[in-house]
Amino acid sequence: MVVAQSPLPAAGPPDTVRLPTLKLLIGGEWRESVSGASYATINPATEEVIAELPEPDGRDIDLAVLAARSAFEDGPWPKMQASERGKMLRCLVDLLRTHEEELVHLESLDAGKPLAAVRRQDMPTVIDCLDYYAGWCDKITGEVVPVRPDALTYVKRVPVGVVAGIVPWNFPLMNAMWKIAPALACGCVMVMKPAAETPLSALRLGELALEAGLPPGVLNILPGPGPGAGMALITHPGIDKITFTGSPGVGKLIMEKAAPNVPRITLELGGKSPNVVFDDADLDSAVKAAVAGVFFNSGQVCSAGTRVLVHERIAEEFTDRLVERSANLRVGEPTAADTYLGPLISQRQMDRVLSYVEQGIDEGAVLRTGGQRLEGPGYYMAPTVFSGVDNRMVVGREEIFGPVVSVMRFSSEEEAVAMANDSPYTLAAAVWTNDLARAHTVADRIRAGTVWVNTYGHTDNRLPWGGLGGDSGVGRDLGSSAIENFTDRRTIWVNLKRRG
Ligand code: NAD
Repeated sequence: MVVAQSPLPAAGPPDTVRLPTLKLLIGGEWRESVSGASYATINPATEEVIAELPEPDGRDIDLAVLAARSAFEDGPWPKMQASERGKMLRCLVDLLRTHEEELVHLESLDAGKPLAAVRRQDMPTVIDCLDYYAGWCDKITGEVVPVRPDALTYVKRVPVGVVAGIVPWNFPLMNAMWKIAPALACGCVMVMKPAAETPLSALRLGELALEAGLPPGVLNILPGPGPGAGMALITHPGIDKITFTGSPGVGKLIMEKAAPNVPRITLELGGKSPNVVFDDADLDSAVKAAVAGVFFNSGQVCSAGTRVLVHERIAEEFTDRLVERSANLRVGEPTAADTYLGPLISQRQMDRVLSYVEQGIDEGAVLRTGGQRLEGPGYYMAPTVFSGVDNRMVVGREEIFGPVVSVMRFSSEEEAVAMANDSPYTLAAAVWTNDLARAHTVADRIRAGTVWVNTYGHTDNRLPWGGLGGDSGVGRDLGSSAIENFTDRRTIWVNLKRRG
């Protein structure tokens, strides 16, 4: 594998992929925006416009929340036999399977993700996620709590109601499905706002959901920019629950602006994950995983292992190997089979990442490879490794969300744990060691929602995912935790006393 030299070959023309209906899905119908405004979605690999889409604002959100409310209060979805709901979701699973390759291409085109990665990771996860939660539909049970002999007291699990979902562009359909599948399985209805940068796969999902027979208003899809439609959605009094994935700044804004309506809120936010390598670790595996752990999806991953903490005894050898491997990764067009890093999502993201690189150099970090944009068209950037970083530097503290890794050194287990925990982020971490006791002890002491031992980056739809607070957010996606997110408990007290 080699870094593709400029000029990078252009990706295939956008019209080789069939585009979905380019409208807003509201109440089971495809609509233009009320304002008539539109925006463009850009192919990050070519910088060409793929399509123009209607741009929703507060009036479209009103219509969508109204449609969702009516589907929840008057429609069949929350009331239907749970196993029937499961069957309908499974019908959608079958349609997703039938159209899997088409969705792979659509996602890759819109997000610039390497086709091979979407085929291997995103789409199988999306389909498995819906399949997993379809299985939950008829297994969400309540409990009978014995309180006194003259009463039957039980607790039912009921759907929370109308859910607002807002998701980013880095794993467009996967981020969306992590919210949609459990919400619908619980009998909730949803207004989903995918990122403006990546509307296409969610709109195709909307078409397939209608084909699967989902009742009107159960799943409303309005991709668009955040400050307009997103803000209108999270401040809407008709919303019972907000489930958000995105940046810490917007997550905090959502908590603040939504407060007057007191909705339930789950926030999956950012990361600056420590990947801690002890001197007894299997170096080959640790180097390989450190590279994949940061450069997968061009570093646009919330759990990217962007702080590699290495024991000083192996730091030099480890860093040399990391640099060599990183420099040889292939950056290129998403359609090429051997591409490891596709383009960044946008010019804005490119500017942001390059400004962090500049800051890193100014702060005295050592730029070992990369650091520059590759000649376009397309937002391609070379994998970038900094060494000599410490936790006080901006590149060591802040989430860059691009292909940039910072290598830091430690001299003791105590120091490694302290450095790992010296961060506002709490999403994920990894520990590399062959000492069993150390593996468990350190895994327990690092404050993170997920800790990997001798591996990096695995998630599964059956396991809870989320941060332990701070800039990584609160609440959990996936697993049985998501069922908790979308159901409430209702206590029923039945008087069993006989009169007379
Ligand atoms: P972002 O916060 O800018 O955007 C995320 C979503 O919020 C988009 O749909 C956007 O349109 C919307 N939005 C933006 N401003 C809004 C507003 N004022 N009101 C309502 N909605 C608004 O984030 P981004 O840059 O697109 O995505 C990257 C961030 O997402 C990173 O911080 C990353 O770590 C995080 N992320 C977290 C996870 C996780 O599971 N924890 C997963 C993926 C991404």
